Amino acid sequence: MLTCGVLAAAVSVGLSAQAQVVAQKPDPKLVVVISIDQFSANLYAQHRGEFVGGLKTLSQGIVYPNGYQSHAFTETCPGHSTLLTGKHPNKTGISANDWYDRETGKTVYCLADPSVTPADDPKGRAVSPANMVATTYGDWLKDVSPKSRVFGVSGKDRGAITMSGHHADGQFWYQPGFGFTTYVRDGQTAEDRLKPVAALNAKLAADLKKHPYTWDYAKDSAKRCKALEADYVTGDRKWRAALPGPVATDDAGKLRDLYASPLTDAATLELAQSLRETYGLGDGPQVDVLTISLSATDFIGHRYGTRGPEMCDQIARLDARLGEFLKSLDKVKGGVLVALAADHGGADFVERLHDEGYDSERVIGKPWVAKLSAEVRAQLGLSWEPVMADGGIDQLYVVGPDRKTPSITDRARITAAALTLIKRDPAVADAFDSNAILTMEPAPADAAIEELSVAERVRRSVYPGRVGDILIAFKPNRVPATAGATYVSTHGSPWDYDRRVPILFWWKGATPHERVLPLDTVDIAPTIAAATGVKPPADVDGVCRPLVYGQAC
Ligand SMILES: [Zn+2]
Repeated sequence: MLTCGVLAAAVSVGLSAQAQVVAQKPDPKLVVVISIDQFSANLYAQHRGEFVGGLKTLSQGIVYPNGYQSHAFTETCPGHSTLLTGKHPNKTGISANDWYDRETGKTVYCLADPSVTPADDPKGRAVSPANMVATTYGDWLKDVSPKSRVFGVSGKDRGAITMSGHHADGQFWYQPGFGFTTYVRDGQTAEDRLKPVAALNAKLAADLKKHPYTWDYAKDSAKRCKALEADYVTGDRKWRAALPGPVATDDAGKLRDLYASPLTDAATLELAQSLRETYGLGDGPQVDVLTISLSATDFIGHRYGTRGPEMCDQIARLDARLGEFLKSLDKVKGGVLVALAADHGGADFVERLHDEGYDSERVIGKPWVAKLSAEVRAQLGLSWEPVMADGGIDQLYVVGPDRKTPSITDRARITAAALTLIKRDPAVADAFDSNAILTMEPAPADAAIEELSVAERVRRSVYPGRVGDILIAFKPNRVPATAGATYVSTHGSPWDYDRRVPILFWWKGATPHERVLPLDTVDIAPTIAAATGVKPPADVDGVCRPLVYGQAC
């Protein structure tokens, strides 16, 4: 259908390159960048024929079905950090969701900033953009157009902050039991900082009280999604994959159920709409920016897998809600340019992959690391456990008796012994010493994304001081997991099911155009910058791709 559109346009002006030149260029006063968390290219392809709402509209613009997050550790914080900085995680400084800090002996969350406090709870997780060492499109824009407004919203702090950057006018994320929150710096008050979301938070709380939320199939997709119901045993969890899914009886559990439901995206889009209208984003002479990261697809993927009735219903609801949101943008006085991508892809859980004929296996984290550490310890005659994981098991840390860095000699000996053992493990594809990776020259910007070696993908992920000593790529469909976790499937690998994401650009008057060559997510920011006359910093990794033939980059 899309190619028909292109053909029709070509015929009308005489089947020449002219057809593309006359295509209407985007001339936005509002740039909306949407990330659907864990929206793999596979998920997009699987459901594309069923879209009737916002995802259908956005698929009628410029479609790159083969977009890539081209680094190795495909987690949420690094993935979001590439979307509007134009840089890979090795230059955004966001190498993983968490890393281990040897100075303090503690896990550091990617956006941790002890100098701020969360507006909802002074004892909650304190986050700000400080750890991100790259600037975003919104920051570049504000440099040349101080009147431009930039807002970021998400179900997660890392979805809101990394996309909207260092000088955003507001960055809000959903905190179950509270509503949307943000961070507060010294000299600011929580009340002031929450003003833009106060009315919506009150409305969301009242709505929930009036109509306790139950998740059931959307009317239009009920039959199709219900057909995917099946019983599964995943790890040591036996469950029936059928909506409304597990229903908690305690209050905290109910909040967790709600958070991992389509409601999170509905609330996030309601906030985006409310900010757009309150601040008249796109109505003035300057360009404004709204970044939206929709988290529910990721929560649902982790909790219920990617190919069950829950994900089917989520995508249908998201499509419908995005349609309403796009419709609300009709009121914007200036032009609107929308880009959509994802922070990473994802895979289904091991048992359903088995049913589809895949050779898949769950690698249980803690026992796997404990066994490795015991073997290294015995081999080298050490008196302490020399290898530990902190969070995921694809990055291991070599530690001394006090869990801090041992002597250089010990590090080298322990790393070498551990690497030999790890590479012998049948679940492992490859493993690296991070010192070797950090001294390696990164692949050039124009290297073919599909052909990057695993080491080159890892190189694009790592930032000094924020990375393990030993970096592991498990074989495809070997899913690292914790025993008994409610997370049944995950992402984070260097393989295409986790790297490939759709990248879409849409504006009113866009000529539908399917572009099958791969596009890197770092190309999004330079492309939007060119369309709005903004110059990216000289050291960005991404390159501008003309949205319309003949458009200057
Ligand atoms: Zn994510």
